[in-house]
Amino acid sequence: MINYNDIFNSYIKQIKSEKRLRKFNEIERDPQNFPKAYRRYLGKKQRITLWCGVDYLGMGQNETVIEAMVKALRKVGSSSGGSRNIGGNSHYHVELEWELARLHERSKAILFNSGYVANQATLSALGKIIPDCIFLSDAENHASIIEGIKLSKRPVKIFKHNDVSDLESHLADLPLSLPKIVVFESLYSMAGDIAPIKKIIEVSKKYNALTYVDEVHAVGAYGKNGGGITEAEGLQNDVTLIQGTIGKSFGLCGGYVAGDSHILEAIKSCASGFIFTVSLPPAISAGALASLKYLRNNLQEKERLHENALFLRNQLKELGFNILNSESFIIPIHIGDAEMCSQISKELLDQWGIYIQPVNFPSVQRGNELLRISVSSRHTVADMQKLLTALSATILNRTMKKYCYIIPKGGARALSKYEDGLNAS
Ligand code: PLP
Repeated sequence: MINYNDIFNSYIKQIKSEKRLRKFNEIERDPQNFPKAYRRYLGKKQRITLWCGVDYLGMGQNETVIEAMVKALRKVGSSSGGSRNIGGNSHYHVELEWELARLHERSKAILFNSGYVANQATLSALGKIIPDCIFLSDAENHASIIEGIKLSKRPVKIFKHNDVSDLESHLADLPLSLPKIVVFESLYSMAGDIAPIKKIIEVSKKYNALTYVDEVHAVGAYGKNGGGITEAEGLQNDVTLIQGTIGKSFGLCGGYVAGDSHILEAIKSCASGFIFTVSLPPAISAGALASLKYLRNNLQEKERLHENALFLRNQLKELGFNILNSESFIIPIHIGDAEMCSQISKELLDQWGIYIQPVNFPSVQRGNELLRISVSSRHTVADMQKLLTALSATILNRTMKKYCYIIPKGGARALSKYEDGLNAS
């Protein structure tokens, strides 16, 4: 007899021994006071500041968005009533797809239930539609991209992260007659670094390859209209497909892909994750429409986000933290040890009311464990000062510093009071 309980229990034991058992904090966001929230813990409510979410512009608590959602909810109810194919294609969905296409200046966009599903379903569909194609995928691509490529059952070549020469050498090795799809992200979700999009497109075109860019962390936040880094760099029409999410800067949930009509018509009829699932509630689409329009007309929120990010990156660097190659509002602090990463996160939360989720394997490779800080447009200078003080006190204490990349003399000015600890070993 197979003992199924043993199988599950031994799996749990294994991931526990690797310090990878996932535990989730129970968070209650404080309406209208983003990024403040409460943590429910041991029957109590602790007031905290969020430093690790993806609601980069605070749109998840925006009045215009909430009102649009309530109105739609009252008008058509909670459910779409079916899949897009069978009864669940409301005018809200159609209008949102039209707005998303307009956002990226493309002829069509199709909506999925999440950014994850958008990647998984579209990439697997591309593999089915394009005979004998091969994927070329950046080494740091997100799990949803990896899953989509796996599901396509097509071969894949992994090129070094953001390395155009490596990509070119892979492309040059392949027969010109073979269909190729180059897949990459514009803004990387863990390191917060940005791809050399223009160069990737140029080299892909040289070898007659299609390009697919995941812009989930950039849409809403970059570009005058919120069309992402491709908009900011004027490359909207140079890339074959742009994938995005409504779940981050737009403040709701849902994903999409934008591009040329004929490509998306084909995907729409092939992508299992688009066809065989109940579509997003119409109220989500109504909220997303309101969010898109709001951000198109509101540059202030985006400007504040980038100002905050610049301030925090500079301060962290000055203090000597290793923030990898972050160029954005996603700011990692390299820790390099799973247990230590979790300990630091717990101390920050328990003692300082600062919530930063530790990021461990498999989200990052072993040895690359990090604290992923995301600053929003709504964090104040006082919030940032408190964060810097807390990080310094927590990470630079004796036990923890050996796990962190502290630049030896970094932060000497601002951190003089912690220097004894720093010099002690
Ligand atoms: N692509 C990237 C690069 C991501 O980081 C994520 C999620 O964080 C996704 C796709 C999935 O998007 P969503 O959260 O909308 O499902």
